[in-house]
Amino acid sequence: MASQEDALLVADGVRKVYRTGDLSVLALDDLDLTVRAGELVAVMGPSGSGKTTLLNCLSGLDEIDGGRVLVNGRDLFEMSDHDRTEHRARSMGFVFQSYNLIPVFTAVENVELPLLLVGVPADEARERSVDMLRRVGLAERERHRPSEMSGGEQQRVTVARALVARPAIVWADEPTGNLDSAMAAQIMDLLRELNAEERQTIVLVTHDPAIGAAAGRLIRMRDGRLVGDETAVSRDTAAAANRP
Ligand code: ADP
Ligand code: MG
Repeated sequence: MASQEDALLVADGVRKVYRTGDLSVLALDDLDLTVRAGELVAVMGPSGSGKTTLLNCLSGLDEIDGGRVLVNGRDLFEMSDHDRTEHRARSMGFVFQSYNLIPVFTAVENVELPLLLVGVPADEARERSVDMLRRVGLAERERHRPSEMSGGEQQRVTVARALVARPAIVWADEPTGNLDSAMAAQIMDLLRELNAEERQTIVLVTHDPAIGAAAGRLIRMRDGRLVGDETAVSRDTAAAANRP
């Protein structure tokens, strides 16, 4: 196992098996991964290689069949369901491909939800949510409902919602998958900015090689295993070594 110093998240021999009828799929195969505070980790790999399963299991949204996951040294799967849900609400944010906004809520109401869920007083939750919407460039859209916003704007609302509680980790599963390339670039710039300026730790699944290349660290999956793990620094070093 990798060094646990400054490790925010440690996955140690994680196994996940899906069973449907008499079929079983080994979706995570003895997977080890350490994420350090402040990293922006891109996850790439073919469809079906286990990227979504990785996010669901390492965030504790889904159960695992073996191994363990430590977040800030605490074993996610040793906690009761209640504690794990609470821990997730306090320490993790999520951005999915489908925006998962509540349609009858305005932008600011969607963003403040995670704060209200962990007991932040209403006034403070509103204030922080308005600030966060400003931070993602949506000051003008506070009172709009999702149906009144573009896809790119809706995804910025979900980024604001994921970050408003300042979680230890933000998980993003193909967050730009439904957006055209200009809007995708905006969302990526925003995530990179939040990572660089606020040291927000982000683990991001993407199909886009440009996004993978731009992340500080790129891991590759195949058949439920990690088959590559490179940092921007190691990539530069390798490129330099290959130059004549
Ligand atoms: P990716 O996100 O990389 O496309 P997934 O994590 O969604 O891959 O899937 C990994 C493997 O697990 C695939 O073989 C997929 O068919 C299978 N799988 C994913 N979710 C389920 C599920 N709920 N039930 C059964 N099999 C699943
Ligand atoms: Mg997926």
